[in-house]
Amino acid sequence: MTTNVTTVPAYAAPAANAPLERTTVPRRPVGEHDVLIDIKFSGICHSDIHQARDGWGEGIFPMVPGHEIAGIVAEVGPGVTKFQVGDRVGVGCFVDSCRTCEYCLQGLEQYCTGGMTGTYNALDKNGEPTYGGYATHIVVDENYTLRIPEGIALDEAAPLLCAGITLYSPLAHWQAGPGKKVAIVGLGGLGHMGVKIAHALGAEVTVLSQSLKKQEDGLKLGADHFYATSDPATFTELAGTFDLVISTVSAPLDFGAYLSLVKTDGALVNVGAPEEPVALNLFSLIGGRKTLAGSMIGGIAETQEMLDFCAQHGLGAEIEVIDADRINEAYERVLASDVRYRFVIDASTI
Ligand code: NAP
Ligand code: ZN
Repeated sequence: MTTNVTTVPAYAAPAANAPLERTTVPRRPVGEHDVLIDIKFSGICHSDIHQARDGWGEGIFPMVPGHEIAGIVAEVGPGVTKFQVGDRVGVGCFVDSCRTCEYCLQGLEQYCTGGMTGTYNALDKNGEPTYGGYATHIVVDENYTLRIPEGIALDEAAPLLCAGITLYSPLAHWQAGPGKKVAIVGLGGLGHMGVKIAHALGAEVTVLSQSLKKQEDGLKLGADHFYATSDPATFTELAGTFDLVISTVSAPLDFGAYLSLVKTDGALVNVGAPEEPVALNLFSLIGGRKTLAGSMIGGIAETQEMLDFCAQHGLGAEIEVIDADRINEAYERVLASDVRYRFVIDASTI
């Protein structure tokens, strides 16, 4: 590669709901503070599927999804101070933000008042569409690039850039730890990282899954208990049990039923991003001073903290590495909750 990168191989959805296919996309030249990353692995997040199918509203097409990127620095701009060629790096869900609002200044760039710039399906400051990680290379500002510690393999690290931080941030914010009972709803990409991280933080962890099919896995990942939500007895047995329930479910849920599992003063935190609204009887909240909250990924500093925490605790994602020509098949399997627990694209096959 030279400094004037123009186009790179990628997989894109040409239009909403169309299968992804091999193509090329432009990458900007490496600027003063940019790093050029040779992408090695790219995770498939359920958000990629929502967006490639216009589930959250009208997307920008062609769309190259992918915001769980792990690779190696191939080139650095003249003003780069944080990274060198050869460094192991990652990129998550956003590649820029305003850098001046109160949230950016607090390291909460994901809540930037001007709106952070998504890694894909967004327009950058020059009005150019951003293209994500299902590609061989990406150019990113060093301030939005993470360092992947030596202790984590790049393929197992990629999903940490979204799934890992999306669970780490609320677990830290609501203080999951020793003496706390935490339930994770949905054992998919996000959920399985939630189990690992909550266990490593010292909490007592329960998985609430649609069936008991993943029970053995859940216990191996670090859960202390595992229940099927298809069994109504689960809700009577666990009523008022948890300090913190985190839902990672991609479809609308009966939040009233899950709030009944929360202790007085406890919280139900939703990180799933269903395409449809949900209804809630507010008596589920007032009868126990309960909190219903949401949380979105994490800031750059917290994402680095999460990566360092995962390396310290030997945590990576449970992955199935696939060739790029299996992306469409992987999407169908994610939609059928048939993923153990994250598909990761081998970028050398793009
Ligand atoms: P995923 O791998 O598909 O996992 C979701 C899990 O939810 C499934 O494995 C399944 O677990 C459970 N589930 C699916 N459909 C269900 C239904 N109808 N009823 C009950 N449970 C159901 O997806 P993911 O990549 O972890 O993402 C999950 C959601 O979080 C998506 O909506 C995604 O867009 C969103 N997300 C949000 C953020 C954020 O910052 N807040 C970040 C990333 C992703 P069981 O088989 O165990 O039941
Ligand atoms: Zn994601």
